[in-house]
Amino acid sequence: MNRMTVKLDQLKEIFKDNLIEGEFPYIPKGRTISLIMVRTTQSEAIFRTDGDLNKETVSTSLMDPSPITRVVITKRKLTASERRSGREFFRELGIIPKDCSINKSSMCGQCVDCLTYGFAAGDKDSDSKGSMKSRVITDNGYSLLEASQISDIKTFNATGESGTMYDLEENKQRQSINSDEYVRPQVHFIDIETFKDLRFGEFLYAFGNILRTSRYGATSTRIGKINNSIVAIILSNAEVFSSLELTKGVWDRLEKKEHPMNTSEVEGKTLEVTRELADKLPFKTTIIAGEELQEVLESVRQAYKEPEELKAILSELSSWKKDEKKKG
Ligand SMILES: [Zn+2]
Repeated sequence: MNRMTVKLDQLKEIFKDNLIEGEFPYIPKGRTISLIMVRTTQSEAIFRTDGDLNKETVSTSLMDPSPITRVVITKRKLTASERRSGREFFRELGIIPKDCSINKSSMCGQCVDCLTYGFAAGDKDSDSKGSMKSRVITDNGYSLLEASQISDIKTFNATGESGTMYDLEENKQRQSINSDEYVRPQVHFIDIETFKDLRFGEFLYAFGNILRTSRYGATSTRIGKINNSIVAIILSNAEVFSSLELTKGVWDRLEKKEHPMNTSEVEGKTLEVTRELADKLPFKTTIIAGEELQEVLESVRQAYKEPEELKAILSELSSWKKDEKKKG
């Protein structure tokens, strides 16, 4: 397909009123970009904290207050997975410093990843870099349908990725047989990620991570292939509605509520409800959808395919912090 690709400077122009230009924003400005998403499982998926799937009992919909139990992908899990793929990409480009590690909680506080998603410095470090809150605000993702419809339990042979029964990360022998509750393939989670006061490079980074991440869950299992489909982007000066409200609104719109749902129908309804809920907000919103959205998505993808320009933009961001530190 030969779609028009907008160049990165044109892309910046589209979002400029909702991004920060220049210096790192220590004072919140409320410039908000919300990505409305349908996340669809492409395999059996396990999102658990301790053995079981995360679930939450909530009202069925905006119209129907009766309770329903939904499967939840926690925001923590979402961010961790997206951050991981971003850091992998940075390592390829040689942007992440060697002494910045999430796992060992020795985060540098200066690289684009630390600046975008926040960081907490280790206590032991005398040269403490403090901590910073994330400017990528993730919401829990809720399943559209009830947990019992979209999940099952099965017993499987927990052979590691290397084909052995030894878990390299946990450094111990795996249990040979595990029983796990999993989410079926083609299950839809409605979710919103909010970018607040990001600079253009940070925006490209967080955006790219959503498009590029296809595996969610613990590194040791890597079970859970997911496709993230962005159905709309909302520009505003304040945070919009929640993932849960949107999920409930979509439920109200569906005619058939049975697994498996048609993905494009779910996406279409999600966009409809997004427009409806945005209309009710007490502030101005601009919604990017349809052809314009496709152009935006294509140019972000393109930026990652040939990352020279992207690398320059990102490198500029991280070096700015270093200069600042020298001055101080
Ligand atoms: Zn860092």
